[in-house]
Amino acid sequence: MNHFQYIDGELHAEDVPLAEIARSVGTPFYCYSTATLERHYKVFAQAFADHDALICYAVKANANLAVIRTLADLGAGADVVSEGELRKALAGGVPPERIVFSGVGKTRAEMEFALDQRIMQINVESIPELETLSAVASQRGMTVSIGIRINPDVDARTHEKISTGKAENKFGIAISAARDVFARAAALPGLRPISVAIHIGSQLTDLEPFRAAFTKLAATVRDLRDHGHRIDRVDLGGGLGIPYREETLPLPIEYSKVVADTVGDLGCRLVFEPGRMLVGNAGILVSRVIYVKDGEAKRFLIIDAAMNDLLRPAMYDAWHDIKPLRAPPPDAAVAPVDVVGPACETSDTFARQRDLTPVREGDLLAILTAGAYGAVMASNYNVRLLTPEILVRGSDWSVVRRRPDYEDLLRQDSLAKWQVRSR
Ligand SMILES: *Cc1c(COP(=O)(O)O)cnc(C)c1O
Repeated sequence: MNHFQYIDGELHAEDVPLAEIARSVGTPFYCYSTATLERHYKVFAQAFADHDALICYAVKANANLAVIRTLADLGAGADVVSEGELRKALAGGVPPERIVFSGVGKTRAEMEFALDQRIMQINVESIPELETLSAVASQRGMTVSIGIRINPDVDARTHEKISTGKAENKFGIAISAARDVFARAAALPGLRPISVAIHIGSQLTDLEPFRAAFTKLAATVRDLRDHGHRIDRVDLGGGLGIPYREETLPLPIEYSKVVADTVGDLGCRLVFEPGRMLVGNAGILVSRVIYVKDGEAKRFLIIDAAMNDLLRPAMYDAWHDIKPLRAPPPDAAVAPVDVVGPACETSDTFARQRDLTPVREGDLLAILTAGAYGAVMASNYNVRLLTPEILVRGSDWSVVRRRPDYEDLLRQDSLAKWQVRSR
């Protein structure tokens, strides 16, 4: 469910015609819908209304300050994986006592910053990290609440690049080592191990891997309690999939049943870290057709967005729906085209042999479901400018990240000192 619909033949974001934004800010641009963000957050929160639950939005899915603020205003916490994300979450208005810091490679400096902000919890993923965090906390005379991320060795049945809960993945500690690692954590100064964390992957389209993982998590919590540990939170990660091509996917309420069945009777506070599920369908990428090129074997639509703006198709073979901003006549015939960007890479392809209605040079297209893992993965590859971001609310809209100019871009580099010539 999202709020990008045709009204009088024009694709709108809520009540704003997207063509109006294109006229004002140029293309390409990302556009996010407040109503969609709010709706997704509320559906998720309502599914856990009967539990002591905290929803920590996974900032890595979309780190725009205005998106974070929209969710923070609804009561969301944040799951962050770097100091930069932590700073963004705080700047976006997320209270530190609702922030979890995850990730396999936190540096000492990042730990120091997180401790000074007094965030809720740091999730630790290895013994060396445990030792470093203990040293950093002790040096500050502090005791930090930690979760330990276990790797349940469950197949999430998703794309291998976003699968994180198999034994061969870099994430978490082996579930069989949980008892030893918690004992080690309890013996180290400055640490209060109170949570077991898990996150098995992203874009899961099936609930069974969650059920398998949460069942193992519950058994681990019981075992740890038998060994004298006080576990009062479990951190269930994110990963709930979203429809990219109108598939039917498990609903948050169905997911909440799996949660209740598996970890519901532990008496723990439940921490969730949804990312994609909250923001994916709340964003689109709008682009203009530069050329229609008839190749020898096929027709290409060359558009002004490229893989540097939206990496998902190149990186994960992801499928995104593509719609023209002006609705085609109902009887318009479709024909297969490849929709590609201008970057000098064959993988710079948004769709292959996609059946689209006729498109001409200058037409505007929307690439849908681009709100998660879109703008955050953008780069300057091919020395292209980063794409601006727009937030819509009702009939109002605002630029929430401006398009940089070439001056900004050129200022980033400098010559080596021996290359500087006086003129
Ligand atoms: C990426 C990530 C998430 C969010 O995953 P989604 O699939 O976007 O919901 C949550 N927790 C951790 C630890 C992550 O790395």
